[in-house]
Amino acid sequence: MNELENLFCSKCGEKSLIREKPIGDTHIRIVCKNCNDITYENPKIVTGSVCCYEDKILLCKRAIDPQKGLWTLPAGYLEVNETIEEGAIREAYEEAFAKIEIKNLLATYSLKHISQIQIIFEANLINSNIKAGIESLEVGLFTWDKIPWNQLAFESVEWALKNFKERQNSNTFLIFNNPN
Ligand code: ZN
Repeated sequence: MNELENLFCSKCGEKSLIREKPIGDTHIRIVCKNCNDITYENPKIVTGSVCCYEDKILLCKRAIDPQKGLWTLPAGYLEVNETIEEGAIREAYEEAFAKIEIKNLLATYSLKHISQIQIIFEANLINSNIKAGIESLEVGLFTWDKIPWNQLAFESVEWALKNFKERQNSNTFLIFNNPN
């Protein structure tokens, strides 16, 4: 069964999409048999930050699936026509009404199996005024010993927090490919 058979070509409007390797290409693509348009599928970019206020770290309890009710860092998909820093600042505001200042890049995580690239910054909260945005059930500032490690939404949240702790007082940023 062809998962494309009920989809229309975004260019010519025909139901004529197939997967094949175009001549001279290295990858199988979504190709329109009618107009030859190629739809390229590329990884998604997630941008976010470990945001600090004094010795506390901002976490947001997710109001939406996946992982509703568990804690995460303010992060999300980069929008078109947006820099990664702008995206991280936007996500902190959307999820926690937090105003942040980006300090530096903490780490990048390439999750090949889900075609996702995460870019995580270190940031400071400009003040401690936070409240839950529409994607959060609640938001909080946690000292290191109060972080709810067994209620984190994603493994990548744990990686970023631990890398943040390990990296303190260092000038390099970290690059991880398929952590684990
Ligand atoms: Zn077409």
